[in-house]
Amino acid sequence: MTDAPLLEVESLEKHYPITEGLLRREVGRVRAVDGVNFTVGRGETVGLVGESGSGKTTTAHAILGLETPTGGEVRFEGAPVSDLSGADESAFRRRVQLVVQDPNEAFNPRLPVGEAVAEPLALHGMADAERRQAIVTDLLEHVGLSAADADRYPHEFSGGEKQRLAIARALVVDPDLVVADEPTSALDTRVESEILGLLADIRRQFDVAVLFISHDIDVVRRFCDRVAVMYLGEIVERGPTDRVLTAPAHPYTRLLLDTVPSLDPTDRGLAEPLTDTVPDPADPPAGCRFHPRCPAVIQPDSVSLPEATWRAVAAFRFTLQAGTLPPAAADATDAGAVRDVFDVPNEVPDETVERAVADAAASVADGNLTRASERLADALPTICERETPETTDVGGCSVQCHRYNPERAGEPLVDSDGLD
Ligand code: SF4
Repeated sequence: MTDAPLLEVESLEKHYPITEGLLRREVGRVRAVDGVNFTVGRGETVGLVGESGSGKTTTAHAILGLETPTGGEVRFEGAPVSDLSGADESAFRRRVQLVVQDPNEAFNPRLPVGEAVAEPLALHGMADAERRQAIVTDLLEHVGLSAADADRYPHEFSGGEKQRLAIARALVVDPDLVVADEPTSALDTRVESEILGLLADIRRQFDVAVLFISHDIDVVRRFCDRVAVMYLGEIVERGPTDRVLTAPAHPYTRLLLDTVPSLDPTDRGLAEPLTDTVPDPADPPAGCRFHPRCPAVIQPDSVSLPEATWRAVAAFRFTLQAGTLPPAAADATDAGAVRDVFDVPNEVPDETVERAVADAAASVADGNLTRASERLADALPTICERETPETTDVGGCSVQCHRYNPERAGEPLVDSDGLD
């Protein structure tokens, strides 16, 4: 056994080409996973959390070899997975197992579940049928079912029972790592709790590590030792679960946790995203990918507005940039009505910004969105859009946000010791 972590994911990338025409000329790339780093230790549970489309499942598939990475490396016990072949590759495929969201995918409806659970044993060379049966019986009991269930068919089981069977099937080859991709999201709350309890028991009894993929940060809180938060193909914050979820540093993590806003209008409450913009992974925003939605987006150095005013102006700017105006703004026929839609005060206390906002609002009322968007972009060049943030250590967590760069003027949302 090496000292290397069980699993290391370094600078992992998975891009999908966008092609056009008969010759399938590449005209762009969907950057589904774009430079992801994390590790999973032996017996550890690590959560990968983020919205749908953030790249979690693609990351899992690249780790398992179900997708060929475009760049970066996946190492298992220090050995690059892409270099494995023959018996080593087969051993990797045995030692890392997948549990998917929909257990129906794991079972042939015409095969008794006992045979389905035993299948991986036969695939990995166990010829002794009696031994296979004994292992399956033991596992069925471990996951809360019984030996008699082995002869039944998948349709005879509830969703929760099928997920128990899928977990048994993953465990049957004695893996070191289970990749659980949204294993409870199709289940109701009671069954979800039972399955999480089962996974926690199994993790202890079998000393198996779990990479737990979920869009639900509360589920991750209950189950994982460490967490990595993904947004649009990147990990924006990672660290011990209790630290990340009690004092989240990245604005996206704070939004996922639905931070309660303060009644103080100058406070940096982050309960709402700045805009409803849904970014296109084929054309991710420049700089920090979260900036068009980030309620903590940093003011330009030349500007010093009250936070609430800045947020209103920034929301106006990034909504225009996305090109999807709310109907009330699209219907507005004068600049004042446009400002009202975005809660921008009638007089912004900065001469340069006020001129830009007034011009932009008048341009929107005239139907010239391009001019309005360009006017605000020229006047408000935030670093969050211009530069990709470095990853910084904040209280033992890694955070990708300009607010934590010691060379930046942006005020951090939590202290460097990780506490508000
Ligand atoms: S870099 Fe800027 S836009 Fe990105 S999360 Fe930090 S404050 Fe928000």
